[in-house]
Amino acid sequence: MAARNDGMPRRNGTTRLKRGTRKSALSVETGARQRFQHRLLKWYRQHGRDLPWRQTSDPYKILVSEVMLQQTQVERVIPKYHEFLERYPTLQDLADASADEVRATWYPLGYNIRPFRLHGIARETVARYGGALPKDPDALLSFKGIGRYTAGAIRSFAFNEDAPILDTNVMRVLHRVFIGAGDPKLKKSTLWALSETLIPRGKGYDFNQALMDFGAIVCTARDPYCLLCPMKDCCKSYPFEPHRNS
Ligand code: SF4
Repeated sequence: MAARNDGMPRRNGTTRLKRGTRKSALSVETGARQRFQHRLLKWYRQHGRDLPWRQTSDPYKILVSEVMLQQTQVERVIPKYHEFLERYPTLQDLADASADEVRATWYPLGYNIRPFRLHGIARETVARYGGALPKDPDALLSFKGIGRYTAGAIRSFAFNEDAPILDTNVMRVLHRVFIGAGDPKLKKSTLWALSETLIPRGKGYDFNQALMDFGAIVCTARDPYCLLCPMKDCCKSYPFEPHRNS
C-alpha cells in the first residue's frame, strides 16, 4: 500500500496538513475527523449502492466505469457499462478495436471525446505498460484523459490505496460539513487536502465510495436530507438553506 500523505497530529488534537499544502490547510479536530469517518462508514454499510463496478477490482473495468460516469447518470451508465465490457472484455480488446467502432459502441452516451480518450488510454497502456494500467499516480496522470479525480478513483477502487478523490459530490459534502458558506469551487485545494486527510488508514476504498454515495443520496445538490442526516450535529451547513449557504 502506498504511503499516505496524512496530516501530522498536533498537540491540540487537530490535524494539520503537511508542508506544501499549508496554504490550503484546514484544521480538523481529531474527534471531528473520527466522528465523520465513523458515521459515514456506518451509513455506507447500511445504505451504500450495489453498483456493478463495485464487484470488480480490475483496473480496466474501474477505468471504463469512471470515464462513463463523467457527465452521465449512474442509471444510464449501467447498461452501457455491461455492453461495453461484453464487447471489449480486456484492455487489449479495446486497444485492438478501431476508433470508429469504439465510438459506435459508446453511443448514445454522448461527449464523444470520452471514448476517444479511453481508446487512447488503452492503446498507450498496451504500448507502454504491456496492457496493465499502472498504479503510480504520476504514471496515471501522464495519460491524456486521466485527471486527478480519475487517478484517485483508480488507485483507491482498483489498487485499494488510500488515495483521495474529489468529484462534484465529494466537494459538496466536504464543503458543507467542514467549511459552510461560500462556493466550493473556490476551495478546491483545501478540499483536496481535506479529502486526503480524512481517509481512515487502510479504508480508502470504502470511505471514497461512501463519500460519493452520501453526496448522491443524502447531501444532494438542491434538496439535501438534513433532518435525517447522520452529520447534522457536526455539519457547518445544517440546516442547509440555499440562500444562506451559497
Ligand atoms: S446536515 Fe444537510 S448539509 Fe450537512 S451533510 Fe447532512 S445533508 Fe448535507
